[in-house]
Amino acid sequence: MHIRVIGAGVAGLTAALELAERGARVEVIDRGPHLGAAACSWCAGGMLAPWCERESADPTVAELGHRAIDWWLRRFPGTTRKGTLVIAQPRDVGELTHFARRTERFDWVDADQIADLEPDLQGRFHKGLFFADEAHLDPRSALTALAARLVELGVSLRFGVEAPTGDRDVDRTIDCRGFAAQGDLPDLRGVKGEMLLVKTREISLQRSVRLLHPRIPLYIVPRANGLFMIGATMIESSDRGRVTARSAVELLNGAYSVHPAFGEAEIIEFGADVRPAFPDNLPAIRECGRTIYFNGLYRHGFLLAPAFATQVADAVFHN
Ligand SMILES: Cc1cc2nc3c(=O)[nH]c(=O)nc-3n(C[C@H](O)[C@H](O)[C@H](O)COP(=O)(O)OP(=O)(O)OC[C@H]3O[C@@H](n4cnc5c(N)ncnc54)[C@H](O)[C@@H]3O)c2cc1C
Repeated sequence: MHIRVIGAGVAGLTAALELAERGARVEVIDRGPHLGAAACSWCAGGMLAPWCERESADPTVAELGHRAIDWWLRRFPGTTRKGTLVIAQPRDVGELTHFARRTERFDWVDADQIADLEPDLQGRFHKGLFFADEAHLDPRSALTALAARLVELGVSLRFGVEAPTGDRDVDRTIDCRGFAAQGDLPDLRGVKGEMLLVKTREISLQRSVRLLHPRIPLYIVPRANGLFMIGATMIESSDRGRVTARSAVELLNGAYSVHPAFGEAEIIEFGADVRPAFPDNLPAIRECGRTIYFNGLYRHGFLLAPAFATQVADAVFHN
């Protein structure tokens, strides 16, 4: 079975890996000049937070998403399972109650417990929610690890290659072009997300921290070497564009309110991309002739790609 995967974002690489692990002959092509160059996946925070996401997502996200943590732990040793800490400023403490009502699998934590979990937040927050079973990863390292594993398995991975128009030379095509597939999937819409990457040695965090706020909730995900990803806006727009001044100010203000050391942090990168989303905000696998479209990962790329990649491989091998 010869399979062509178009797109080396998280959808394409997870699908390619599931297929290659089951013995298919797989090739992956991507029009970007190198891994991540044109992929929304490169901008992601890398939170694997199935139970926090219940706040705004369908129950399916938690049901399928919690399996992703083991999937990533098996395939990317950099996956960190230390939970998610959700906090709010004293004036926004009602947001915590609201969040707690809509989510599951957490414990309430007080100021001492917050300080035990994250010593650098000592004395800054009085109340929070701790989702002990959640995890996070660095998407760029995770995608790099998947690509390396694919090469080990004999998969051909080529960049700077546009999807061909015909597919007669392969048995199946898996279309994982993300938002670029909108021409074939007219109900796909874009949800712009903006993020920034900062560096500071003045603060360390062990896990993802979410700051609740009535208008501008944000999260901070720690990475290696003093890097922190701060994200992310959610704007109904298909314009990749750049980060607006307003979003930059709001994200930075939010981070500064979590800890003033973020005020002294070095800005490494501003990033923006478009999350591909279907009307129900759930991913879908659609078959059209010999092509399988795997798309609509919305804000759950790393969380839901493993479960849907498994379904793609099932569809290929059982038809
Ligand atoms: C700021 C931000 C934060 C996020 N945080 C999280 C998070 O914490 N956790 C989480 O799970 N998800 C998160 N997401 C969502 C996640 O990033 C997306 O759901 C996911 O990246 C979508 O992956 P994809 O593989 O479908 O698309 P993409 O990553 O965009 O990959 C598509 C690939 O297809 C290639 N391509 C397109 N057209 C062609 C063509 N014609 N020929 C060849 N190649 C082509 C592109 O070059 C690209 O590499 C976040 C998103 C944003 C923007």
